[in-house]
Amino acid sequence: MRPARALIDLDALRHNYRLARQRHGGQALAVIKANAYGHGAVRCARALEAEVDGFAVAILEEALELRDSGITKPILVLEGVFSGNELNAIDQHDLWLVAHHPAQIEMIEKARLGRPLRVWLKMNSGMNRAGFDADAMRPAWQRLMDSGKVGDIVLMSHFARADEPDASATDQQIIAFDSATQGLPGQRSLANSAGILGWERARRDWARPGILLYGADPMPDPSHGLRPVMTLESAVMAIREIDTGAPLGYGARFHADRPTRVGLIAMGYADGYPRAAAEGTPVAVNDIRTRLIGRVSMDMLTIDLTDMPHAVVGSRVELWGGNIPVNRVAQGAGTIAYELLCNVKRVRFEYSGD
Ligand SMILES: *Cc1c(COP(=O)(O)O)cnc(C)c1O
Repeated sequence: MRPARALIDLDALRHNYRLARQRHGGQALAVIKANAYGHGAVRCARALEAEVDGFAVAILEEALELRDSGITKPILVLEGVFSGNELNAIDQHDLWLVAHHPAQIEMIEKARLGRPLRVWLKMNSGMNRAGFDADAMRPAWQRLMDSGKVGDIVLMSHFARADEPDASATDQQIIAFDSATQGLPGQRSLANSAGILGWERARRDWARPGILLYGADPMPDPSHGLRPVMTLESAVMAIREIDTGAPLGYGARFHADRPTRVGLIAMGYADGYPRAAAEGTPVAVNDIRTRLIGRVSMDMLTIDLTDMPHAVVGSRVELWGGNIPVNRVAQGAGTIAYELLCNVKRVRFEYSGD
């Protein structure tokens, strides 16, 4: 069997959730959209269900998958509904939903429902992507209350730059939110992972931790005690010596600058390892660091084993995990950990800590 696999440590997932909830205070929705950032939504939800206050996903289909697999805790649908008939499923499966633009309020007004909805009303506090502008918040809130369909409204907003401790944008967003929602009743929610880790002033009734649950610290100073949840690993499947000056792989991106012992690894971009990874991106062989050399191909990649005489065919290779932070690989590929984690596929998933 091909040795490529993703090991998912559910104890680490629970540890990270507890850390986030305790740090923020109040309640916390575990954000498990996009298949729990690539970690397996159902398995992650089951591992967390006993202790979470609720979950958040992006879309209705993700929420239904969780309900179908027996998850009964609250689930918030972060993008809300795309059509009125989705509200029937929201109603039937007792889901919470975000409302972030007027068409969604219209759908709620027209809906025929069995029980009152719990709506998270989203404000645009400066990101200018989704949500009601400051002056539209009160009218939106009033329309929802007047609709007769809504039992409870949580006021929320989302940060654009909370991972930048020196940017003033986050403080400005907090001020804009507080001023636009002043006097409106209801609970509040501002902080994503970076908000939880970096912005005490963003703490409200509910936190919405996502990436931090998976142990990838979004702040520039990653010293918050998170534990990586995914180890992406494979093994050396062949070894070859190439001479000084010899090219390696597609496009001959790498030329050996010394006699080089090349390890061929069963992992490629079809598994989710980024093709954009730079020359020299770290990997670990039997827990010792070495580096990527040559282009990543679809099913294989190549690493430098010249200074690792103990590495043999079958040696374990970690692409990211406890030795190699996924943030470091993302940096070497010009992207963020979020994208790498939610792109992992084809490899076997193995879970521990159930
Ligand atoms: C995805 C998402 C989150 C989680 O963000 P992280 O940066 O992963 O913590 C929180 N809130 C909303 C509205 C989101 O869409």
